[in-house]
Amino acid sequence: MTISSREDLLRSEDAALAYVLRECWPGGGRFCPRCGESRLYDLAGGRSRCARCKYTFQDFSGRWINNGGLSPLTWLRLADLFSREPTVHQMAVEAGLSYNATYKAVTTMRFAILAHATDAVQLLGPETGLGSFLRNRKLTGDPDSGGRGTVPVFGILERNGWLFIDLVSGMSAETVFHFNHSFHLKVERAGNLIWTDRYRHYDALVFCGDDSLPYEYLRRHDRPVAVECGTGFWAFAEKRLKLFKGITPRRFPLYLKELEFRYNMRHSDIFPVLVRYLCDFVPDMNPEGAAETAAGAARGHAAGSRG
Ligand SMILES: [Zn+2]
Repeated sequence: MTISSREDLLRSEDAALAYVLRECWPGGGRFCPRCGESRLYDLAGGRSRCARCKYTFQDFSGRWINNGGLSPLTWLRLADLFSREPTVHQMAVEAGLSYNATYKAVTTMRFAILAHATDAVQLLGPETGLGSFLRNRKLTGDPDSGGRGTVPVFGILERNGWLFIDLVSGMSAETVFHFNHSFHLKVERAGNLIWTDRYRHYDALVFCGDDSLPYEYLRRHDRPVAVECGTGFWAFAEKRLKLFKGITPRRFPLYLKELEFRYNMRHSDIFPVLVRYLCDFVPDMNPEGAAETAAGAARGHAAGSRG
């Protein structure tokens, strides 16, 4: 997208709506977001009803951009601002929104990015608890509400310029404390942010703790731990992590996956990709907290109808 076409897009509600509709319905054909059926009845107010399962929906039902009651133009402006990494306060001023509405939209963008990671099913599972905030394909509640479970630990791995941040299954903050104490795994701390020296095939382990952790038991060592990530992800991440306000153990995976996304797209414009993610369906979470693949089936439907 050229700069002038982006400027035109961000000036007109009609142009923004057309752009967003193309992203939601590639090829133009509508289908039921719940069962994939393409026989639909048109209802008043731009709604449709599925001929098979009777689900009634509108163009943005079940999609990330359906959260927050913002117009397509506002979403595109927020996505454009987000791509330039301002603070939430700066975004709110530029978009003419309240701080709370902007913060909620930014959280939605971070969820949409995380939901498109290759390990999204694991990240939305019980180890992070994030999936419990997705109900009926809507983002509900604040990820900081509710008690915390274990603090998940992430492994950072950079190979050939690509960065992978994995949730290290079965490992908790307590395990890292244990490895530090008993096996001399070097650990560095900045506030609640903890990172380690190399561990197995990872360049580093990282987690965000809370005030309940026994930081005073961390072993001290002579030299600070310098995370050696191929082309310098840690330098990229560390200064950003220190700027993020209000990182909590629950929100931490959202920030990490945002950084993974930004780093892997550091030579490209994230705006069109971010808008595509926002126009996609919110994963349908079943009561056990696992992500259903219905949205994937719907995407497959859309891809099939394109050809
Ligand atoms: Zn249906």
